[in-house]
Amino acid sequence: MKIMQNRMDRGFEKYQQEYEAKALEVLRSGWYVLGQEVKSFEEEFAARMGAGYCVGLASGLDALWIAFRVLGIGKGDEVIVQGNTYIASVMGVSINGATPVFVEPDKYYNMDVSRIEEKITDRTRAILVTHLYGQASKMDEVVALAEKYGLRLVEDCAQSHLACYDGQMTGTFGDVGCFSFYPSKNLGAFGDGGAVLVKDEALAREFRVFRNYGSEKRYYNKVVGANSRLDEMQAGLLRVRLKHLDEITEERVRIAERYLTEITNPKLMLPQVRPKATAVWHQFVVRCKERDALAAYLNDREIGTIIHYPVPPHLSEAYAYLGHKAGFLPVTEQYAAEVLSLPVYNGMTAEEQSYVIEALNRF
Ligand SMILES: *Cc1c(COP(=O)(O)O)cnc(C)c1O
Repeated sequence: MKIMQNRMDRGFEKYQQEYEAKALEVLRSGWYVLGQEVKSFEEEFAARMGAGYCVGLASGLDALWIAFRVLGIGKGDEVIVQGNTYIASVMGVSINGATPVFVEPDKYYNMDVSRIEEKITDRTRAILVTHLYGQASKMDEVVALAEKYGLRLVEDCAQSHLACYDGQMTGTFGDVGCFSFYPSKNLGAFGDGGAVLVKDEALAREFRVFRNYGSEKRYYNKVVGANSRLDEMQAGLLRVRLKHLDEITEERVRIAERYLTEITNPKLMLPQVRPKATAVWHQFVVRCKERDALAAYLNDREIGTIIHYPVPPHLSEAYAYLGHKAGFLPVTEQYAAEVLSLPVYNGMTAEEQSYVIEALNRF
């Protein structure tokens, strides 16, 4: 049996007729950028998330960097970011000229809240939390710290659609919740897409203006903006997927529950879920001292795995200019050496799950 770490075809097949009908509807509409589909998706997504406003954008990275741009955070400013995030979070900060200041993760792979305060200086302007692998961060304490120090709070929710902390959706705690709809995300499009959630109308309007060359009225430009528009085709297809997102998430939770109860090999450290947090299992990440041997063993049995992420941002070539050396973030670096993401995808059969579980228990 050959099992891929992720596959999008199964998720598509389940709702194929609805997707195809919507795609034809958009093609035949004669309107492809910033129209009724985007407007409807924004309203439906904001409503589902319990947020004030949603603004559709072209990608998750755009959501991040435009968020910091709109909040006025740039050169000379510092932003607290967790060390073990996907590098796009860090780029969202540094594209604006602001400096990322890294904080170690906790045992749930999210920002270690107890280590934020020691990194706050008089240049700190914001905290950016990533709800990594689909599990909500410890938001009560993050919100309290942001309030105490008068910092902006931005959430990277690219992996956490529908994940909650204390019953509240990730993406609604801070000033801006940033989402990606890259195809492999839990709420994935069929191409690139992204969005922000914000509480108030004035801020939503700033994003709307910025994404469209800084103009509200065509050819009258208020600011130097970007072309970062969610297109009608992606918005239409996302509306179909959003309708089924509870079911899609439920299915991932069931796969994770099987892994959590049936994987019993003591060589593997299974993921834990934080009290009051929910996980939507964007990834199911185990840790193993013999990670590379484990990946090779699984590969021999045609089971695909991925490392999220092999090089932490502070040690990547892109951020060599920050001057951080190996050993600077020991927890982050240990995780990078030990983590392995197991296959989890919608439409994964019970036999496929059993095959993965048995192989892992025999390692
Ligand atoms: C995918 C991802 C992004 C970037 O989203 P894109 O839509 O690919 O630009 C940002 N942050 C995290 C944590 C991600 O997983």
